[in-house]
Amino acid sequence: METRIIDGAALARELRAALAVRVRDLAARNVHPGLAVVLVGEDPASQIYVRNKTKACDEAGIASIQHQLPASISERDLLGLIAELNRDRKVHGILVQLPLPKHVSAEAVIHSIAPGKDVDGFHPENVGRLVVGNARFVPCTPAGVMRLLDHAGVALVGKHAVVVGRSNIVGKPVALLLLQAGATVTLCHSQTRDLAHHTRRADVLVCAIGKPHAIGGEMVKPGAAVIDVGINRSPEGKLVGDVDYGAALQRAGWITPVPGGVGPMTIAMLLANTILSAERHAAKQGIGLDA
Ligand code: NDP
Repeated sequence: METRIIDGAALARELRAALAVRVRDLAARNVHPGLAVVLVGEDPASQIYVRNKTKACDEAGIASIQHQLPASISERDLLGLIAELNRDRKVHGILVQLPLPKHVSAEAVIHSIAPGKDVDGFHPENVGRLVVGNARFVPCTPAGVMRLLDHAGVALVGKHAVVVGRSNIVGKPVALLLLQAGATVTLCHSQTRDLAHHTRRADVLVCAIGKPHAIGGEMVKPGAAVIDVGINRSPEGKLVGDVDYGAALQRAGWITPVPGGVGPMTIAMLLANTILSAERHAAKQGIGLDA
């Protein structure tokens, strides 16, 4: 069977075109979706992520309100800014780019974001709602993974899904969503014994590790759907995933490339969550289509 490459960049383009229509509908009702993006410090990777997110917002007609703060900012001042953004009616989504400097508690910051504006879906209230199957905002990367699988027509009900990586932002929510979609899920991490034993039994394999080529071709079950979330720099400076793409391509049924797989979908899902938040805001204010 020929391996199908799941083109995340193309799907993200399609989704963004559909989102632009929703932004126009909102604009017709005088509602303009706004995303506040908070960047603390000068981490180069974070600066690139924020730039990409801001550019995507501009293209989608979402107002992105950037707050670039020095690494020396106190936790108190940062919490003060978030409290302001929580109150600001022009802001429908608040994104605080992680990681934060060591003297600032990421937990305190995430907890301080109003759950109704938490478009990353990291607030414990939103995490709890995701766990019970009543999500307010599905975290962007996990939502993107699920959309890619759906778009590719990968069956999940009764299938064995293996997720490698158990972070709060990727691995755990992906595992939950796969479980809710009817898969039987194994969640692996750095202390898992004999990782290959598990990955070789995966009909669906999602890798969110952060180590180049951690998953070799021989670790992939023939015909499996392989979703590579990892973004790593190779020693030659190239962007590579967690999966040995060339080797996995020989065995997988479906595979996402890096770049051009999960990455563009994460951004599309962030736009989708911000627009959803603006639509909810409009509905709450009683701003209907006829307004
Ligand atoms: P974390 O570092 O928070 O988590 C990595 C996970 O991988 C941990 O659970 C860790 O286990 C596990 N792990 C590490 N080494 C191994 C190993 N040898 N075998 C099995 N498991 C291992 O990373 P994130 O979840 O934030 O991100 C993962 C990757 O995805 C990174 O490359 C990141 O850049 C990328 N990413 C990509 C996004 C996109 O849009 N495409 C968005 C977000 C992240 P343990 O818990 O035991 O330490």
